[in-house]
Amino acid sequence: MRKPRTALLLTALSLGLAVRAQVPDTASFGGPDGIDIFEELTPDENPEHARLEISRAAKALGILCDVGDSLAMIPGYDLYCHWNTETIFDREHARAVHDTLCLDLSVTGDDFMMPCPGHLTSPFGPRRGRMHYGLDLKLQTGDPVISAFPGVVRISKYNKSYGHVVVVRHHNGLETLYAHLSKRLVEPGHIVEAGDTLGKGGNTGRSYGSHLHFEVRFLDQPIDPSLIVDVENGTLKAKTFDIHKGTFATMAAAKAQLGARKYHVVRSGDTLSAIARKYRTSVSAICRINGISQRSVLRLGQRVRYN
Ligand SMILES: [Zn+2]
Repeated sequence: MRKPRTALLLTALSLGLAVRAQVPDTASFGGPDGIDIFEELTPDENPEHARLEISRAAKALGILCDVGDSLAMIPGYDLYCHWNTETIFDREHARAVHDTLCLDLSVTGDDFMMPCPGHLTSPFGPRRGRMHYGLDLKLQTGDPVISAFPGVVRISKYNKSYGHVVVVRHHNGLETLYAHLSKRLVEPGHIVEAGDTLGKGGNTGRSYGSHLHFEVRFLDQPIDPSLIVDVENGTLKAKTFDIHKGTFATMAAAKAQLGARKYHVVRSGDTLSAIARKYRTSVSAICRINGISQRSVLRLGQRVRYN
C-alpha cells in the first residue's frame, strides 16, 4: 500500500476546507452546503483539467498549493478521477474491471480492524427479495464504530436508507461504508487510521434494531466483505485481495436470480387466496416458496413471491 505523504495530503484537504471557508457566495461554485471542490472542478473527469481548475480557484483565493501532488494524495484518485462528498455511490458510472488488480490490504500488520466487535446477523447477498450489499453486525446503540482501514473520509451525512452514514476511501481504492449510526464523529476530508472512531452505532434510516451495516466497494461496485474479512476471528483473510471480473460474478448471479423471481406487494384487503387467484397459482405454492403458513397474517407492503 502506498502510504500517504501526510503533509501533502493535508495541503490538498486544507485547500478544500479553505475554499469552503473563504468563498463568500457558495452559489458561484455550486452546492447547497459548502463546496465539493474536487467534484465541482472535475466536470469532465479529466485530471489535467481538474488540476488547472483547482490551481485557478486556489490562486483566486490566495492559497498556495502544489496541485499536482495534492491531487495524487486523494486516495484512489488515479482510479476514480473524482472526489465526491455528496453522492454515496454512483451506480450509473460503476466501471467494469477488466484486468486483475492486486490490492494491498495490509503492509504494517495493523492496517485492519473490525469496525465493531459484534457477531454477524445478516450476510451479503439476496434477502427478502432484495440484494443486501453488506454485512450486518450486532451492536448496541452508542457503541463506537471504527474505520476498518486507513484512509480519508469521503462521505459523512444522513441518508433515508442508510441513516447516518460514513464512507471512507482507502489508499488501495477500496471504499468502506458504515450505516445506521446514531452519531457521526467525522467530516469529509478527515484522515483516519484503522481503528479510529467514525461514529456511534445506532438504528437510523431503514433499520430494524441497532446494528452496523458494513459495505466494501470498489469503483462503486459492491464486494462481499466476507471475501476479504474473516468476520468470526476479526482478521483479514489475506494481506492482498485480487479484484477481477469474477469478484463481482456471485453478486451478478444472485441479482439475476432475484430478477427472475416475481413479487406481489400486499395492499389493503389482499388475502393469500386473492393473490393466488390473481397470479394463477395456489395458496399452498405461495406458502411454500415464501416459507409462511396459510394462516399467516399479511402486512401492508409485504412482498409475497408468487412464481
Ligand atoms: Zn445491512
